Amino acid sequence: MDAEQFRAFGKATVDYIADYLEGIRDRDVLPSVEPGYIKPLIPDDAPEEPQDWQDVLKDVERVVMPGVTHWHSPQFHAYYPTANSYPGIVGEMLSAGIGCIGFSWMTSPACTELEVTMMDWLGKLIGLPQEFLNCSDGPGGGVIQGSASEATLVALLAAKERTVQRSNSSVEKSGVLGSMKMRLLTTDENCSFRGSTLEAAIAKDIEQGLIPCYVIATLGTTGTCAFDNLEELGPVCIKNNLWLHVDAAYAGAAFICPEYRHHMNGVEYADSFNFNPHKWLLVNFDCSAMVKNSHDLVDAFSVERVYLAHQKQGLAPDYRNWQIPLGRRFRSLKLWFVLRIYGAQGLRDHIRKQIRLAKDFEAMVKADPRFEIVTEASMGMTSFRLKGPDHLTKTLYEKLISEHKIYLTAATFGKKFMIRFVVCSRFTEEKDIQFAWQEICRHIEPVEGNEND
Ligand code: PLP
Repeated sequence: MDAEQFRAFGKATVDYIADYLEGIRDRDVLPSVEPGYIKPLIPDDAPEEPQDWQDVLKDVERVVMPGVTHWHSPQFHAYYPTANSYPGIVGEMLSAGIGCIGFSWMTSPACTELEVTMMDWLGKLIGLPQEFLNCSDGPGGGVIQGSASEATLVALLAAKERTVQRSNSSVEKSGVLGSMKMRLLTTDENCSFRGSTLEAAIAKDIEQGLIPCYVIATLGTTGTCAFDNLEELGPVCIKNNLWLHVDAAYAGAAFICPEYRHHMNGVEYADSFNFNPHKWLLVNFDCSAMVKNSHDLVDAFSVERVYLAHQKQGLAPDYRNWQIPLGRRFRSLKLWFVLRIYGAQGLRDHIRKQIRLAKDFEAMVKADPRFEIVTEASMGMTSFRLKGPDHLTKTLYEKLISEHKIYLTAATFGKKFMIRFVVCSRFTEEKDIQFAWQEICRHIEPVEGNEND
């Protein structure tokens, strides 16, 4: 492919993407294909002869689209959002165009330096304490990881390393820590993890000869968007020398709005803080921001080789030492584009609108005596069920999913089956919330009828 063909292919693809997204409301949110559907649609072997890009692009609609779950459909209310915006998409394109691998400052200074600054922009936007930022004195700083799961693992490994270094019989203790036991701790009636629960768990671990070293607190849990109590957990972690990692994968984006920042009171106790602009801040996947103490990360991940060394070493971050892989993409470009083209105000409008729409949905549920709210609307999510035995809600849920018009996920809470409703797409409007509610109501009569028979 030469540059002229690339221009034509690229422009046609941009048109295709814009048409796809602007027309996404008209597609069923869930596909109707069965496992193995692609096999008969494409040849068994890669083509020997080069093919025209026009034919390739045509096949997207024929082969790919029938099997796509439309995460950006305004009728997608499952899981949590994954971000998508035009500036984010263009940022991805440019990143692919430059195609650098910025594992050290020297391998692409712009890739490192834009990321450093973007992490500071983000940290300030969500109101993190100064010591989390690169622009402060000391070890503060941020890095883009691929996912919240990766950030949690990176922090765990750094916590292990810090604990092993602290201990005076390191070989023996690193053996103990080698395979880290994880404990799931209970929460209170609001699904919040509390300081007293942590203290009791630490005492029990120590009694059993274990060395606790890492605590994960969540701000905006996946099931019910609950918030753990950092103000209580933080001092317990400090007292016991435990690394406190804060996972705010979804809800962290809301802290760009000052009215939601109280949820992260106590964040100053954290050793690492992570949230995903790729979930709720309109930056396309993958972009998971992780901040705080860079020295601990470098201590845990630093591997020096002659071929990796460069003359400016030590003067700027070499991000390979802050993460698990060596290679890394130029992900800060899309963040830069989104933050500039929406502006903080535009992003706050997006968050506030989605929270308002979730409240609207909750009000519809509350006004209908057949339903009950299971957990009150929190950020862009709420959960509900039909009053009465679980099978009513289960049947309703199965019918909804089988029609492919709206997509929701189910969960259990307090042993009761419930349906989660999350406002996910940036295209979701009031009329889509009403459509979802009508779909839900349309499916309950037969269920109730069965029940009364
Ligand atoms: N943490 C929380 C609280 C989440 O809700 C999720 C996903 O929804 C994750 C972590 C996982 O995120 P990732 O896909 O970035 O690993």
